[in-house]
Amino acid sequence: MKVIELFIDLLERKSETPTDGGALKFIAEYLEGYTALVINREEVQNLFIYKKFGEGEHLCFAGHVDVVPAGDGWDTDPYKVVEKDGYIYARGAQDMKSGLAAFIQAVADTKTFNGTLSLLLTSDEEGPAKNGTVKVLEVLKEKNLMPDACIVAEPTCEKVFGDAMKVGRRGSINGYVEILGKQGHAAYPEKATNPIHQLSHELGKMAGVNLDNGDEYFSPSQFVVTDIRSGMQVTNVSPGKLNMMFNVRNSTKTDQASVEAFVEAHLKEMNYSLRLDQSAYPFVTDSNTHIVRNLDKAIEKVTGVVPKHSTAGGTSDARFIAPCGVDVVEFGVINDTIHAPNERTSKAEVEKLYAVFRELIDTF
Ligand SMILES: [Zn+2]
Repeated sequence: MKVIELFIDLLERKSETPTDGGALKFIAEYLEGYTALVINREEVQNLFIYKKFGEGEHLCFAGHVDVVPAGDGWDTDPYKVVEKDGYIYARGAQDMKSGLAAFIQAVADTKTFNGTLSLLLTSDEEGPAKNGTVKVLEVLKEKNLMPDACIVAEPTCEKVFGDAMKVGRRGSINGYVEILGKQGHAAYPEKATNPIHQLSHELGKMAGVNLDNGDEYFSPSQFVVTDIRSGMQVTNVSPGKLNMMFNVRNSTKTDQASVEAFVEAHLKEMNYSLRLDQSAYPFVTDSNTHIVRNLDKAIEKVTGVVPKHSTAGGTSDARFIAPCGVDVVEFGVINDTIHAPNERTSKAEVEKLYAVFRELIDTF
């Protein structure tokens, strides 16, 4: 099978989270001579499949076979592939069956390699992500099969194919502040403690303020206020309580302790409480690692484009793989229609992505 045929086959398997449309069984059979570990948890299907060619490093390709629901607004059936003007339209065309087809075919066509090659696949990336990649990594730790380096083939390019890879991701810290005052009549402000007045003196020094200066990989971690509410929608009562919510997309220079200290510095005169909840932790893979340098070269050789190293955007399963001590990067097709109606990728991009992965495997 060629990469485009494989791509079309995967797209026509409807695999909305947490189903896989039979894709994992098909892939396990497609890669002859590989050892398959089926790691299913509840209704989630996971597959880790590997082959040891030699004693060198272990290179893993990771991805998800699940897609988000098609939704409304499609011009064609989202699970029947339509080709038009060099583009392939279907749910999952960018996110991320393009990446899957490219690396599965690249691995299938590899006859020699100085190390171990593997694929880590899940049907639970777009959903809660509780029984997917995380569970596979637990098994890999147990069985001593943790890769040295990993490529997650999510769509990362911006304007032209080859222009961006992701070498890390920001974290996300959610904050909930409650300020207690003393409720009273608006006509007797001296008898009340108004939390709106209290906060207003400090709010301008908090909202939109950068908690660090960023660095070559990350933009600054900004304190973004997302919600403030207080009062009873009347003009004659000074309220007794105020609630504020905020979010910080944090780099490796800012953590929960620094957010806590920032809030304390501004609210210390008030009777406040703070709760933080971190939904993702930041990570970055150094530009000097084997995987980043080799992927850089492979992209430039195939496309003539020098990719930028970005950490922008939302989260992916790379956030689970990096803390296991694996050098993780993400690289895939252009990201401009993911999760949208009429999701599409050009055939040329999928073929070039395949060529990049072949080149990377050959030179790793
Ligand atoms: Zn994705």
